[in-house]
Amino acid sequence: MNKSGKPGPQIIPRAAHNISRDEISKSALKVLYRLHKSGYQSFLVGGCVRDALIGLHPKDFDVATNATPEEVRALFGNCRLIGRRFRLAHVRFGREVIEVATFRAAANHRDDDVAHDDEGRIIRDNVYGGIDEDVWRRDFTCNALYYNIADFSIWDYAGGVSDIDARRLVLIGDAEQRVREDPVRMLRAIRFAAKLGFDIAPEVAEAIRRNLALLVNVPAARLFDEFLKLFQAGYAERTFELLREYGLFAQMFPATDRELDGDESYLAFVRAALRNTDRRVTAGKSVTPMFLLGVFFWAPTVRLAAEKCEQEKMSESQALSLASYELSAEQQRRISIPRRFTVPMREMLSLQPRFRTTRGKRALNLLSHRRFRAAYDFMVLLGEVGQVDGELVRFWTEVQSQSAEQRTDSFQLQSKPKPRRGGRRRRRRRPKAGQDA
Ligand code: ATP
Ligand code: MG
Repeated sequence: MNKSGKPGPQIIPRAAHNISRDEISKSALKVLYRLHKSGYQSFLVGGCVRDALIGLHPKDFDVATNATPEEVRALFGNCRLIGRRFRLAHVRFGREVIEVATFRAAANHRDDDVAHDDEGRIIRDNVYGGIDEDVWRRDFTCNALYYNIADFSIWDYAGGVSDIDARRLVLIGDAEQRVREDPVRMLRAIRFAAKLGFDIAPEVAEAIRRNLALLVNVPAARLFDEFLKLFQAGYAERTFELLREYGLFAQMFPATDRELDGDESYLAFVRAALRNTDRRVTAGKSVTPMFLLGVFFWAPTVRLAAEKCEQEKMSESQALSLASYELSAEQQRRISIPRRFTVPMREMLSLQPRFRTTRGKRALNLLSHRRFRAAYDFMVLLGEVGQVDGELVRFWTEVQSQSAEQRTDSFQLQSKPKPRRGGRRRRRRRPKAGQDA
């Protein structure tokens, strides 16, 4: 026991764990060693320790120390202090950033320094502390392991190592309270369960089910960040299933969730899109959130657009565009999606009806629309689940690799563009008799 009445760490020596320095990025090692040599405590902490223990490749490295942010900055030329609520040091090595955080006290530890709102959510916690305080403010036991660069041992205060062995996701402290303090932890539970293949501990599962509605208190901008982490980490499909199972998806995307109930074909479409995203992420290809957002908006947009078409005189494309505009405005109240994603998303959705026309100039022009590629991919995916005719998918796939001459035939253009004055005259082929325009 230490002065706070909480247990001291179990220290796992280098010989008893599998984390080798080869798995730690060179930049992180530089930061760790320099802090250590300057007389500070210096640990890796959080996801990187957890992932390395499990045998996954950590994607980023977080350092925890008893040096203050200003002291960290004094040690590194390539260092910037960020954050207002609590200051963090970012040490940059080329494109890699090592985040260095000063130990902070737990939320319920020094009550006078922590402010809560009416539902128990923490709105201020910015007090420095020791490692034996820092550990209790972390979320899950598997995220609260510290790798000490001084002797390569792991410090485990909260039983994280045995929970990792048992593949259990356990919140530190009282699950109910920890979820109320920060409802985003519900989403983090799902994310880690999906990524690590862990079981969510029963008391955590219950706390989630009881507090679903608290998600509306989370700032919409923070939820967008979480949305990206949930769906762009390579485990989107599994994450989606868990979010649905727990009722969290309905909190994040209510309109989408309503359409999913009882519409197997839309569900298949969403799953296909998520699988596709996961494959791309795993293969190291780029993904844009706008595509998946388009998938989530699709069924609600189609429904609302159909109503609009009935009420007012407008084209299907216009109706889709207007409907997705209204729905994304509504969605912003939960998750604030930046315009740089909603605008192209709307274009991608409203282009869909245009794929049905395969004749004439306007159809040909679709190929050079700036949103063609995304809209085409979207259509292919709809085709995969039988919502777009296979013939159409084939047509739009083939025309992409055709020459201008071939396209004239494919799109059944009667007259070709007029030759420029003085330019080379091309031979004109007469349309076959009986062929319509
Ligand atoms: P990832 O692999 O996604 O990076 P991570 O565990 O490193 O997983 P981060 O969001 O990078 O997650 O956070 C780093 C660490 O900070 C976590 O491991 C955890 O100890 C702590 N932490 C992050 N968010 C919270 C939170 N909402 N509540 C409590 N502790 C948190
Ligand atoms: Mg991390």
